[in-house]
Amino acid sequence: MKTGQEMLDTAQLTIRSTAQDMGLADELVDLLVKPNAIHEHTLHLEKDNGTTVPVTAYRIQHNDARGPYKGGIRFHPDVSREEVQALATLMSIKCAVVNLPLGGGKGGIIIDPKTLSKAELKRLSQLYARTFAYALGERKDVPAPDVNTNPTIMKWMLEAYESVLGHQAPGTFTGKPLENGGSLGRTEATGRGGVIALQEYLSMVKTDKQKPLTIAIQGFGNVGYFFGKLAADLGHHIVAVSDSKGGIYVGKNEATLDVPLVQECKQKQGSIAGCYCVGGVCDINKGKPITNEELLQLPVDVLVPAALENVINVNNMDKIKAKVIVEMANGPITEEAYTYLNSKGVIIIPDVLANAGGVVVSYLEWVQCLQGQWWTESEVNGRLTEIMKDSFAAVWKISQDKSMPLKQAAFQLAIERIAKAL
Ligand code: NAD
Repeated sequence: MKTGQEMLDTAQLTIRSTAQDMGLADELVDLLVKPNAIHEHTLHLEKDNGTTVPVTAYRIQHNDARGPYKGGIRFHPDVSREEVQALATLMSIKCAVVNLPLGGGKGGIIIDPKTLSKAELKRLSQLYARTFAYALGERKDVPAPDVNTNPTIMKWMLEAYESVLGHQAPGTFTGKPLENGGSLGRTEATGRGGVIALQEYLSMVKTDKQKPLTIAIQGFGNVGYFFGKLAADLGHHIVAVSDSKGGIYVGKNEATLDVPLVQECKQKQGSIAGCYCVGGVCDINKGKPITNEELLQLPVDVLVPAALENVINVNNMDKIKAKVIVEMANGPITEEAYTYLNSKGVIIIPDVLANAGGVVVSYLEWVQCLQGQWWTESEVNGRLTEIMKDSFAAVWKISQDKSMPLKQAAFQLAIERIAKAL
């Protein structure tokens, strides 16, 4: 099966079954499933040694009924049309769940950026922006960073796009460096949004918000780090964290990791596993090294997969002990595992809601660019908090009224909103 095919099948099936349960007509369901446009080009990348190589690139525009297409551009050797289409579809759902006036799109280039020099990476990024310029625009399709793309790449792409356009249009790309029209609060936004969603869940179930929860986080990159830091700031106990090389666990007792200290150590040692008994980390917390698989199976209150897709699957689903899972990565739980965990009463705060903080602040960056405004960090965080709280409340209400899991409720909410706009 092609990379991304399973993800696309799952996304389409979820939309189809939810829309059919809602009694939507078949023609409408087809409109919700099919992308509006698939743009595919072969880019001719000039290498530093003077040779030219063909590179396949995509921009897929799923649905713009509620506003311009919005979604990142990823550079990865495993990118495929199916994967980009699946991610574009999920962006339509995510933007609608958090009620943004935006649709869903996604871009990708089949390339391992680690094989490129900085000059080649810049040429490729600018070639992409010039080639797809006809499909992009502040009021048409607004890309952002994704896997292996970053603010500098957004800046390069914007420069190339504006050179085609002949005037400035900074709202065409989000996730830009601050000095090029980026927004304060964007870096922390996804982790912050996830913590807000978790706190809202706790307040809905009337759990004492002051009582510390034990939390294990898989993935200690942008999302995992800020989720851990902000949750710890609220008093929760981060008992385990990991990156691709493994993790550390401080045990079931009252201990908690000092998240910024772990980050500092990871930066020095290159990995969290390398931090075991290095510097202050394990001395302070009496931590022990664990594998990523062990982390997923820890007896914690909350499990936060914040790294890769499909990490909770048929092989480990019956070993998961957490009562709540916050899906910070995209698609960390396979369909079979999701069904199993639901049947066991595990609460899953779905990715289309839990990790939407990033696209919310991308939206706030877009609005600032269109209006020529700069908002303070507290203004941005205030708006993010309001949007996340309102969205959680809307999803929660459907789930309570209709006795359905949060994921199904989130899809219903999104589909209802998109269908009304069609
Ligand atoms: P990142 O590259 O900054 O960090 C990823 C982390 O995962 C790293 O610590 C890496 O070591 C770790 N990792 C990689 N392979 C692993 C493995 N096999 N086991 C355990 N850990 C592993 O990425 P990020 O921006 O933090 O994104 C993490 C996830 O969140 C991705 O699924 C991404 O699609 C999703 N997401 C990110 C954003 C955002 O704004 N950054 C928004 C929405 C969703």
